[in-house]
Amino acid sequence: MSDCLFCRIAAGEVPADIVYEDEKVVVFKDINPKAAVHLLLIPRLHVASLREVTPEQDELLGYMLRLTAKLAADQGLDEGYRTIINTGPGGGQVIFHLHVHLLGGEGLPGFG
Ligand code: 5GP
Ligand code: ZN
Repeated sequence: MSDCLFCRIAAGEVPADIVYEDEKVVVFKDINPKAAVHLLLIPRLHVASLREVTPEQDELLGYMLRLTAKLAADQGLDEGYRTIINTGPGGGQVIFHLHVHLLGGEGLPGFG
């Protein structure tokens, strides 16, 4: 059994509020939402962070970023949304399985 929390969520070993999944990715609600909509997109493949991404994964990354638009539309975020990828401890990353935060709607904090 993996000791990576997000691998375990992808495998169905840890419960999560999953809103979308396919053969490449799993998307679920953040347990501690920072806005009305706060989803996490993860690849099923364990990649620790953006720093570990290889050229073979370029297509997967593009797929994940493009998917945010469809997910945002499904969530009714017609005015727009924010995507965040925290990388490394200095970037605020806490879970070391690559993930894209998708945030929007009521309560979205200011940035900068
Ligand atoms: P990071 O700081 O690594 O970019 O973001 C990790 C995110 O994972 C945080 O926003 C945190 O709330 C979320 N998170 C941590 N543990 C769990 C969990 O067990 N389930 C879910 N759904 N989200 C989690
Ligand atoms: Zn993992």
